[in-house]
Amino acid sequence: MSGTVYLVGAGPGDPELLTVKAWHLLVTADVVFHDRLVSDDILDLFRPGAQVIDVGKRPGEVATSQDMINELLTAAAKRHNSVVRLKGGDPLIFGRGAEEARHLRAHGIEVEIVPGITSALGVLTSAGIPATCRGVAAGFAVVTGHRATGETDWSRYVAVDTLVILMGVRNRADIATALIAAGRPGTEPTMFIERGTTSTERRVRSTLREVADGTTVISSPAVWALGAVTENASVGLVRS
Ligand code: SAH
Repeated sequence: MSGTVYLVGAGPGDPELLTVKAWHLLVTADVVFHDRLVSDDILDLFRPGAQVIDVGKRPGEVATSQDMINELLTAAAKRHNSVVRLKGGDPLIFGRGAEEARHLRAHGIEVEIVPGITSALGVLTSAGIPATCRGVAAGFAVVTGHRATGETDWSRYVAVDTLVILMGVRNRADIATALIAAGRPGTEPTMFIERGTTSTERRVRSTLREVADGTTVISSPAVWALGAVTENASVGLVRS
């Protein structure tokens, strides 16, 4: 009989934003496999004696391959009752959580998926940016900025009130250029929030045009929000 793999969302960073269920699983797990995005404060919660394995990538290092992660999880489930696969934010928003769960289930391993607060929304909310706001924004979209700009048809996101881009730091100037070309105004207010909900959080405001011009200095990980909701004049909640 193999154990269960819990695919758990760690939330955006602040340990107090873990769900009660995630916390309970973390403090009792036999083995934990985690990503780079999981904050140190959360890594301190594991029970003494738990095996903690970092399968994330740091700048300049090679990540453990997805195939290798799948194999490590399968092997761990055969030896332990409770294996936690901990991912930043929500486990099924980017980050290949669905692939891992499918692989494990295909190998007869029980998988339980525990949602987390995605950085796409939690980082905004904690900064006082409402993804929706009556009279200002009726909806939002969350899009990856990781793909080369030619692969994403940015014109699909021109009419979205609040646009939230994850993994967009590196390609930000190209993305901003593509969005302006597709019809979003260069004067549109945007905000980057680096390491949201952690003690080193940093917020940078700029217009879409400034981002396209390459004048913003941003480091990863950051959530990039575009739209009137990022502007204090519209919403009145945003601390800077
Ligand atoms: N599953 C995660 C997203 C994984 S993709 C989630 O639901 O949040 C990784 C991207 O998430 C990063 O490139 C960054 O855009 C964003 N991200 C995750 N944690 C963040 C944080 N604390 N602050 C800012 N951005 C964050």
